[in-house]
Amino acid sequence: MPQVAVEGFAWMDGQVMPLAEARVSLATHALHYGTGCFEGIRAYYNQSEDELYVLKMAEHYQRMAHSCRILRINPGLTPEEMGQATLDLLRQANLKTDLYIRPLAYKAGLGLGLGLTGVADAFAIYCVPLGHYHTAERPLRCCISSWIRPDDNALPVRAKVTGAYINSCLASDDAKINGFDEAILLTADGHVSEGASCNLFMVKRGRLVTPPVTDAILEGITRNTVIELARDLGYAVEERKIDRTELYTADELFLTGTAVEIRAVGEVDHRPIGDGAEGPITRHIRETYEAAARGRDARYRSWVTPVFASMPAAANS
Ligand code: PMP
Repeated sequence: MPQVAVEGFAWMDGQVMPLAEARVSLATHALHYGTGCFEGIRAYYNQSEDELYVLKMAEHYQRMAHSCRILRINPGLTPEEMGQATLDLLRQANLKTDLYIRPLAYKAGLGLGLGLTGVADAFAIYCVPLGHYHTAERPLRCCISSWIRPDDNALPVRAKVTGAYINSCLASDDAKINGFDEAILLTADGHVSEGASCNLFMVKRGRLVTPPVTDAILEGITRNTVIELARDLGYAVEERKIDRTELYTADELFLTGTAVEIRAVGEVDHRPIGDGAEGPITRHIRETYEAAARGRDARYRSWVTPVFASMPAAANS
């Protein structure tokens, strides 16, 4: 992912400001203990309509509310209010390009004590321009990581907890140093879980198969979207445990995530998937998803929230 942080804007304490001005104390609890939870949301610019569309905003803030509940964080805003704050931020930022939106609810107390109860909470959002997460044009080269996903009773990866991303950073860093684009992690009992920053689907004999939500995955919004889309397009989808070597013999394999979008996997552990090119079912789902995400598919208009068309009249004048 490009290391962008310059041309961005932030929403903090009800105010919109340049990202560089949104600061926290060095003593912040979340900075030391990883006690925050976050979301990654995309807004796509539709040039022909001169409109910015936020994809699946309600679903992201619903997941954030669940993450907050697990971490005992009171962000002080309802999911609807977080959505409103996001629209305020995007309107004032007025960036007409594809954006990544990063809300963060965190333990903002300045004390040294461990624990969650009684520690002050805060909520903020920032947005930055973002093109493709994986910049390579070709299908991705993946490896099975020697790092495993943590068990739910050790570190709940169902919640999008900041501290849990140490696991993804270790896996992703190793994969890149070894020449791969993305790491695929297994569960403690050796089943396929997910990518370092994305969920995974394989295609076998025309059916889609993806690991169940109980196999240490983040319950991806894009994963749910792909399941809905694939069924609409007439493909059967199965959620079941996947063995490592099933990946090697898959007809097609693809990754899904808000940042990653839908990306074909061309090889795993140096073994080609199919003929190594993007498969027809992956392409069908990806192209339908990309049009819908930009507000270009009338069937899926409910997935996107227009930023400027829904602007209150007073703000328009
Ligand atoms: N798994 C992990 C570990 C992730 O970081 C992400 C990205 N948020 C996903 C899966 C995909 O989730 P989503 O589709 O909601 O972006």
